[in-house]
Amino acid sequence: MQFFRMQSPEYSSDSQDLSINGNLEYVYRFPGVSCNACKATYGGSRILAFEAPPQIRNDQRFRSRWPISEEEHAAMQQEVAAYLDTDFAAFETFRPGDNFQPAYYDSPSIPHTDFLWPNIRSFVVSARMKQMVFDELAGDVEIVPVSPRKIGKRNGSTSPSAPDSVNPENHIHGPATIEPYYQILVRAVSDYPKGGAPISVCPVCRHEAIDDEKRELVMREEMWRGQPIFLLRTTLYVVVTEALAEKIQTSGATNVDFVPV
Ligand SMILES: [Zn+2]
Repeated sequence: MQFFRMQSPEYSSDSQDLSINGNLEYVYRFPGVSCNACKATYGGSRILAFEAPPQIRNDQRFRSRWPISEEEHAAMQQEVAAYLDTDFAAFETFRPGDNFQPAYYDSPSIPHTDFLWPNIRSFVVSARMKQMVFDELAGDVEIVPVSPRKIGKRNGSTSPSAPDSVNPENHIHGPATIEPYYQILVRAVSDYPKGGAPISVCPVCRHEAIDDEKRELVMREEMWRGQPIFLLRTTLYVVVTEALAEKIQTSGATNVDFVPV
């Protein structure tokens, strides 16, 4: 069986990349942790599907990545679980570095491709692609709209008389001018890659210590759990089956590449 890593095409420059994909920014998050039990200091970049509760939106503790102790971290997790009225297991429901919605989308140009790659941790698709491919993958992925913020080139504040009207590229376009786009948050994972199983797991913060030198970043059939789309465990690689890669390609999707993994 063949698997493919789904990823952005290569671009000729960073500015071309930004012009096509824009940027997705998460504002509210859990900080990193510096755990006294396992001595690890870390924070991931997982994206949660739900909005930051209003109670934390003016709280600077939820704006920083700076690591805090495992006790302080667990207390913040409990606080958020209470605001959201959700079940909670320490360092499982929420993890260090988790990002909340909303995801603000900024781009110097109006996006027009089916796939956007504006953030290392999530990719974004058009309404057409959502409907044709991703709606039926619910369970393996979560789908959350992006919030358009600054679209179009910004006016220079130092040149109020700039004749922007002669160059429509320089207009700031309101959020209403772009089609809806959706983050695809991949939740399914493979089994550990060869050599990638944790050497130890911290009983307090659940941190998995991995020997990076032994880990082989290859998707083998015995690691597959049967889902058409999933993350290669211990990595940010989005992997799809050959059947799903073909479906996406035959739908005419733009701005996406498939590489055997
Ligand atoms: Zn720990």
